[in-house]
Amino acid sequence: MASDGYRLLEAVLAEGAPGWLREMPAVSTLRTLWLQQFTRVVTDGTEDVAWRGRDDLPPGGSLIALPYDPHVRYSRKGELTWIGYKVHVSECFAGPEDTEQPHLITHVVTTDATVNDAKVVDTVHDRLSDKDPMPREHLLDAGYTSAELLMTAPVTHGVTIVGPVRGNRTRQFVRAEGYDKDSFTIDWDTKRATCPNGAVSRYWTEGSDHNRRPAIRIRFLATTCAPCPARDKCTRSELYGRQLTVRPRDQDALLQRARAEQDTADWRTRYAARAGVESTIHQTVAVAAAGTRKTRYIGLAKTHLAHVLTAAAVNLIRLDAWWIGTPLASTRTSHLPALELVA
Ligand code: SF4
Repeated sequence: MASDGYRLLEAVLAEGAPGWLREMPAVSTLRTLWLQQFTRVVTDGTEDVAWRGRDDLPPGGSLIALPYDPHVRYSRKGELTWIGYKVHVSECFAGPEDTEQPHLITHVVTTDATVNDAKVVDTVHDRLSDKDPMPREHLLDAGYTSAELLMTAPVTHGVTIVGPVRGNRTRQFVRAEGYDKDSFTIDWDTKRATCPNGAVSRYWTEGSDHNRRPAIRIRFLATTCAPCPARDKCTRSELYGRQLTVRPRDQDALLQRARAEQDTADWRTRYAARAGVESTIHQTVAVAAAGTRKTRYIGLAKTHLAHVLTAAAVNLIRLDAWWIGTPLASTRTSHLPALELVA
């Protein structure tokens, strides 16, 4: 019971209790866990302990998910939820014509499960920057790309990022109905947006989005939007005017160029090379009957070491296959593209 935990902590922290007790990592974890999960309440003059409730818990990045391993975190990706860590694997690839060289894992990053994928790319580039040669291109999936990364990686590390940037995800764009962001004309100099109905925005606030990336929030007055005959196509809010969130000017232009480029056949051919990394991920999981899917160690440091050793084992298997002349397996064609090929 939660009250038992409090009694234990009070005993450990009481005057006269041995000092070393409160220095124990298990006691520190218990104390943090109890502070995060429970609160003391007084009901009818009696003190009791209550669960904080979902809305009063700390952010996922600091919330202890398991008392046995204070580093693991809750996370979710689409329908998948888990408690633990994330592992990010990079491998070398010389180009589409490269069928002669072994594809080796060049770097492994392990983080707690809440760290945004895009945050690890700079770490990978920093670690690879003392390698010779530093890769000129880095092929990444959409979870890792961002406008900032597309802009900064060529400057800070001389690496061109090749990866799809996320499309317009406004409700209006996704449902192909109503006015999405591209329906508005943005005047970056006067810091105003004009809507398809000819109204001009009132507020322009520079800040950051929920991922702490630079973002600009543009708002129209409620009194502007209230009488608008096209309101149903534009906003669902009954109380406020339309609101848009855009990236800063240089990033917005870059994203538009990147979205146009990723629709071309050239870009798709260039990016197709990344498909092979899925087999790397599969192989690390398979070799990891030794364990990347389920860590067998407690703590980030040991889990990361296990990931590095697994990557080294995969590299040895690949080097062996290369030395004895085993050809690379062909990339699997998923069911939908296979149907297109048949047609
Ligand atoms: S609801 Fe507001 S922003 Fe949208 S079209 Fe009408 S006036 Fe313009």
